[in-house]
Amino acid sequence: MVIRCNNCGYYNRNTNIRCDNCGIIINDTNNYNNTVNTQQNTTKESKSKFISAILSFLLVGLGYIYLDLYERFFVSVVVAIAITTISSYFEGEVTGIIFSLMSLIWMIIVIIDGAYCCDAINNKEEKPKYMGLIQLN
Ligand SMILES: [Zn+2]
Repeated sequence: MVIRCNNCGYYNRNTNIRCDNCGIIINDTNNYNNTVNTQQNTTKESKSKFISAILSFLLVGLGYIYLDLYERFFVSVVVAIAITTISSYFEGEVTGIIFSLMSLIWMIIVIIDGAYCCDAINNKEEKPKYMGLIQLN
């Protein structure tokens, strides 16, 4: 492992206390702690697609809560409830089966959309439009 000197940019062995190039102290405990803290913060900020997908698998749209996307959560749940209600109304009929399939497809769509949003959040980019239609949080 090497440590980059903050003063001159020279790469030193991490056992070095002073920079081989400019002589400034590079390996004191404070600097080391700062590096570790920065890394931990970065890990904390990034969201996991896997966790989001698992949550949305358990309950449609739950992954959006994890991603702090409450509008998407709300709309996804409303659509899921509507599809489930219609499918139970037509239970035992072909229409019912079609709507049962639709609720499954809806769950998959929500999981995929959640994954794209997760990437966008982690890369600090604009989130894709919800279902390609509207911009939601
Ligand atoms: Zn240096």
